[in-house]
Amino acid sequence: MRILLGGLNQEVNSFSPGKTTIEEYKRKQYLLGDALIKAASEHVRAFSDLFDAMGGAYNVLVDGGADVVSGGFAGAQSGGIIEQSVLDDYISHIKEITRQSLPLDGVVLVMHGAAQSDESDDPEGDIIVAVREIVGESVPISVSLDLHANVTERMVKNANTISLYQHYPHVDIWEAGERAARLCLGLAKGEIAPKMAYVQIPMIVPASAYTTETEPLLSLMNKAHAYVEGGRLLDFSISQMQPWLDVKDGYSSVVAIGEDADVAERIAKELAGELWEMRHAFKTELSSVDEVIAIAEQNESGKPVILNDFADSANAGAAGDSAEVIERVLALGSDVRGLMYLNDSEFVAACRAAGAGNTVKVSLGATISKKLYTPVPVEAEVKALFDGNMFIHGNFTNYGPSAVVKIRNMIVVVTTQHFYPGDPALYRAFGYDPLDFQMVVVKACTSFRAFYGPLTDLIYPVSTKGPATANLLSLPYEKLPKSFYPFSDGAFTPVVNAWGK
Ligand SMILES: [Zn+2]
Repeated sequence: MRILLGGLNQEVNSFSPGKTTIEEYKRKQYLLGDALIKAASEHVRAFSDLFDAMGGAYNVLVDGGADVVSGGFAGAQSGGIIEQSVLDDYISHIKEITRQSLPLDGVVLVMHGAAQSDESDDPEGDIIVAVREIVGESVPISVSLDLHANVTERMVKNANTISLYQHYPHVDIWEAGERAARLCLGLAKGEIAPKMAYVQIPMIVPASAYTTETEPLLSLMNKAHAYVEGGRLLDFSISQMQPWLDVKDGYSSVVAIGEDADVAERIAKELAGELWEMRHAFKTELSSVDEVIAIAEQNESGKPVILNDFADSANAGAAGDSAEVIERVLALGSDVRGLMYLNDSEFVAACRAAGAGNTVKVSLGATISKKLYTPVPVEAEVKALFDGNMFIHGNFTNYGPSAVVKIRNMIVVVTTQHFYPGDPALYRAFGYDPLDFQMVVVKACTSFRAFYGPLTDLIYPVSTKGPATANLLSLPYEKLPKSFYPFSDGAFTPVVNAWGK
């Protein structure tokens, strides 16, 4: 049994500065041919890594007796709109491999679902269609996507099954890959005949405003899980579309997969209606930066206060170069003992030129997001210089040449490559433990709660500027229909908008 495994995986923020180029993919994951098989077989589950889905899918396919064919995998850190050539090159590659690999018994694609390129608002749909045109109607295509996917009608009509992460924070990326692979194997072996119902919901909500582990979403997720456990569904997905994606055809949605089409339809409509009903509950309570600094100055609890600068979140496509918190620490003359991450190549270059143990007087931040942020002049003591290739959760993550500096009482890890900074393992890799600090600045939306939640309950989302702002009404959407919540609000009747193959 031959199963093709591949995909392109990136979350795009339409408001993020700059484009995502092939270099961004090559820096993270551009794995063609055997390189994908090797990486998938050696990958250690990392919980916050998109490649976990590839690891999960690969293992299920191999355990199920499949001969896995590499369709190539291109993965990049969240960021700006993808240069068209990246998408075109990947599609050419997977088409060529698909043609050469026929006959195939199935295809598993591991993707995000909220990508956007110069010419396409639906790159994942483009990839699914390209593969479908070659394998024909009868070969199953199973797809795994992020919970924040914009699942499109085109994806649904051309895939047999679509499985999104079911948890936010995304602690089940590995399982999403497993679910997609299991459904594909079941189809390829003729053991299941799934019907996939898809219901669009015209709403977007800020990613910082909810988790699946708290109400109101927790009950909805639990209800859906019970349908699977009770055997009424084979799989379900509830998408809260990435809200910073400015596309014409964009929706939150529900996908319900079952052997009985009527049951799948009924449940998909029920879950979609309930998600719509809870839309007003998804609000982020925000503090000001100054308020949180004042709270942290008094913090002797042994647990860090988390100043949650989610608007500059790496996983939501921001560049991680906002120095707004440092600006406030300096303006207030605060001696808060803080820990922070920031991405700024020019600053690191100045630190490397000065050398460890010396002091630099330069500006910090806003080197990428020039229109959004303001550089902050600082006097910083260079504590250490690193190559930035850190071993975190069993995998190497390359933050590029990095500097650790002290500004007043703030320890700031400054990197030259922007990766996920929502895990205390980042600071530990650079030699600092968040538990030793009064305040930790976290540039992530909700994912960080999986890692910081067990350490502290002192979490304060703040009203900073950035491409991942919770104030969606402040963003310059041009394509997204304004009939959407929160731009407008009214009645919504769920209907099945498309069925899978
Ligand atoms: Zn997500």
